[in-house]
Amino acid sequence: MILSLNNLRRWVLESQRDPNWKTASRLCKRETPYCRICQAKTNLEAHDVKPYHLIPPDVRAKMTVGQWVKNMRTLNHDCHRGIAHCDDPAFLQYNPQIDKIIQDINMRAMACTTEARSWR
Ligand SMILES: [Zn+2]
Repeated sequence: MILSLNNLRRWVLESQRDPNWKTASRLCKRETPYCRICQAKTNLEAHDVKPYHLIPPDVRAKMTVGQWVKNMRTLNHDCHRGIAHCDDPAFLQYNPQIDKIIQDINMRAMACTTEARSWR
């Protein structure tokens, strides 16, 4: 992991989260060990589809590991901040269409052909 102020800030923020969130974050990154947008395998973070800060603390306290995992998508730091959080360094703004973006990118990859390689 590259040590940067952003990574450090993120680590401090995440270390204060609910224990079930932390377990879920590890599970999410183990189950999908690559960014769902750019496929990168480094600087991975768990993105909360419904943002953590918008879930009331009393609701968060009752959430199971499975419920947290369901709300998570593995993204690398750049896609997490740039796409999922609209380039907001505080990660407060977010893109509610993240699943549609992931789906569109995967569809685009599947639709690519290799035929052009044989044409000159
Ligand atoms: Zn990415």
